[in-house]
Amino acid sequence: MSDCIFCKIVAGELPSKKVYEDEEVLAFEDISPAAPVHVLIIPKVHIASALHVAEEQLPLIGAIHRTAGQLARDLGIAEKGFRLVNNCGNEGGQTVDHLHYHLLGGRHLGWPPG
Ligand code: 5GP
Ligand code: ZN
Repeated sequence: MSDCIFCKIVAGELPSKKVYEDEEVLAFEDISPAAPVHVLIIPKVHIASALHVAEEQLPLIGAIHRTAGQLARDLGIAEKGFRLVNNCGNEGGQTVDHLHYHLLGGRHLGWPPG
């Protein structure tokens, strides 16, 4: 989508600190990190939110989970633990309308969230 900042990051029209990329998935550092490790994992194709995942896109969600696990190992947070979060909609805290998962770790993460 032309006015979507994450689509612009995928297209290279906006800069990002990439940590992983393949044909379908991109992962990059969050611009405003909430933990020592804070990576955003997104599908390259524009999907507005978790509510907009089509049946045929479900393998993409698997690919995102595989990426999250691999990055958790690579970034050294797999053993101590981490959090994989999707915020959906206004009350869910979603501020960018392109499906993304936060991979957070490197400190103790409180529960429940605010
Ligand atoms: P949400 O609140 O939608 O779950 O998460 C959006 C996340 O995107 C926030 O954590 C915010 O810091 C991050 N973010 C917003 N704009 C940019 C940007 O231009 N670049 C990067 N790397 N992260 C962004
Ligand atoms: Zn987009």
